[in-house]
Amino acid sequence: MSGTGTGIRLHAPAPGWEHEADVVVVGSGVAGLTVALRCAAQGAKVTVVTKARLDDGSTRWAQGGIAAALGEGDTPEQHLDDTLVAGAGLCDEEAVRTLVTEGPDAVRRLIATGAHFDTSETTGEILLTREGGHHRRRIAHAGGDATGLEISRALIEAVGEAGIEFIENALVLDLLTDAEGRAAGVTLHVMGEGQRDGVGAVRARAVVLATGGMGQVFSATTNPAVSTGDGVALALRAGAEVSDLEFVQFHPTVLFLGPDAEGQQPLVSEAVRGEGAFLVDADGVRFMQGQHELAELAPRDIVAKGITRRMQETGTEHMYLDGRHFGARMWERRFPTILAACRANGIDPVTRPIPVAPAAHYASGGVRTDLHGRTTVPGLYACGEVACTGVHGANRLASNSLLEGLVFAERIAADIAEHPAAPGAPVVPDPSRFPLLPAGARFEIQRIMTRGAGVLRSEASLDEAAAALGRMYADAAELLERDGKTAEPCVESWEATNLCLVARILVEAARRREETRGCHWREDRPERDDENWRRHIVVRLPSGAAAPVAPTSLTIRTTPTADLPPTRSGTEHLR
Ligand SMILES: Cc1cc2nc3c(=O)[nH]c(=O)nc-3n(C[C@H](O)[C@H](O)[C@H](O)COP(=O)(O)OP(=O)(O)OC[C@H]3O[C@@H](n4cnc5c(N)ncnc54)[C@H](O)[C@@H]3O)c2cc1C
Repeated sequence: MSGTGTGIRLHAPAPGWEHEADVVVVGSGVAGLTVALRCAAQGAKVTVVTKARLDDGSTRWAQGGIAAALGEGDTPEQHLDDTLVAGAGLCDEEAVRTLVTEGPDAVRRLIATGAHFDTSETTGEILLTREGGHHRRRIAHAGGDATGLEISRALIEAVGEAGIEFIENALVLDLLTDAEGRAAGVTLHVMGEGQRDGVGAVRARAVVLATGGMGQVFSATTNPAVSTGDGVALALRAGAEVSDLEFVQFHPTVLFLGPDAEGQQPLVSEAVRGEGAFLVDADGVRFMQGQHELAELAPRDIVAKGITRRMQETGTEHMYLDGRHFGARMWERRFPTILAACRANGIDPVTRPIPVAPAAHYASGGVRTDLHGRTTVPGLYACGEVACTGVHGANRLASNSLLEGLVFAERIAADIAEHPAAPGAPVVPDPSRFPLLPAGARFEIQRIMTRGAGVLRSEASLDEAAAALGRMYADAAELLERDGKTAEPCVESWEATNLCLVARILVEAARRREETRGCHWREDRPERDDENWRRHIVVRLPSGAAAPVAPTSLTIRTTPTADLPPTRSGTEHLR
């Protein structure tokens, strides 16, 4: 089961510089920085490499908060129940149990690291709010609706104090492996000046992918520009298995900025509904009532579908979120970030309902890992949104993702300390035979995916998306074969090539899953089919594939049950 690599790599110049560490962490969100801190505390020499600045990534944008059974009367068991319900029969129960039982202490350790959560002025206890799918108030928040910003601030400060080395503006390209197929470092491109400029290599004994999500696969998303699925694409090229890519969560309430708005869009957090704002159509009718016992606070997929259905019925492009009854003071105190984003776009939620529509928000699937963050490639770990630990199943429960990043980061650090790896020298790879897509392909991919694989999917729309993505790749491949030409290697073309690979696997998984479940909604297969589909779709690229993204050249299997199988067999371990 161990990865032996596929021979597929991004076109890039040969590394011109080299750096060494014990552990290289790719990405500087909650997952990456927590792994880095915990590994450094155990004495490892850690290098964090990150694509833009340290605080670029989804973490700083998280608004609502972090879920954990911290409140009186709440228990991990109740948190587990809510998570399993949201996951629509596809959660790995052991992974969820790990998340909810280790979660409260992981949050306490985050507080000890320096993060300040909102507390009651009278009792000093952490204030907890509710979000969709939670039957209790269990979401800790900071700065009102600026939880991610505070977590990011605290972790960056702690990383600085711990003297952890980081390389910013560094796009990681591919995994380096030794002759046995074990992870031995990464290649990367640094947009810097001086010693570390251009393509180089960081050699390390363990590689942790913490590259976040892939929201940029779609035109409208809450994710920042760096969320281009690079970690999933790298892992696939390295021979790792990915799972559940079809389960993209579309956040129901994203500020609607017009039908042609592209890229990152402002989110109107679920916590706004948690505090009592409600959804209405243009006539002021509360359409979520009667659709689910929790109405506006139903799990996200239900609310996103409710909004999309109403948009179709009324022939409109958005619905409204009405929080006028909060009054100016509550908006300013509790939701300052959202208030500012709305006002910056000409909408004052104190006096007007906010126009909202669903947009791509969270990747429930990713690089398949076990409970220690180990992927199917020895020495390669994945953590945070890039990983598929099995905790989210077919739909993530609100505010479980920051928690997942924390809990599994700590587990990865413990595993690395417990099983020190000693990979051999990296194998020098042959020049890549695979084309790069041109920089501008990103927008074409986004439009194809939004049309064919968005909130509403069908066999026909997915077939169309698959064919269009296939043509893009085939055109680039033909150019390379015929004229020996490929797009200029640069950040934009590497990202577009990664997006295309991830998009094609996502579409292929969504075509195969002939049912509606969680956040995967097939118009032509509206029922959930437990008999045939209470299982995961696992994909990897076979080694030596001639055309890495042709559906015929993918290795696709389904798991026998909803639990994810171990990433390695028997007693086989990483080293
Ligand atoms: C608007 C918004 C609101 C949210 N609200 C909540 C919430 O309230 N509660 C909750 O639990 N979750 C929330 N989420 C989800 C949550 O924020 C993310 O799932 C989580 O922060 C992911 O953390 P991460 O460390 O895995 O990745 P990120 O924080 O996205 O960090 C990824 C890092 O990887 C780097 N990177 C990417 N590609 C490369 C590459 N090729 N080379 C080098 N570096 C690379 C990026 O630059 C970045 O540093 C929200 C998400 C968004 C977008």
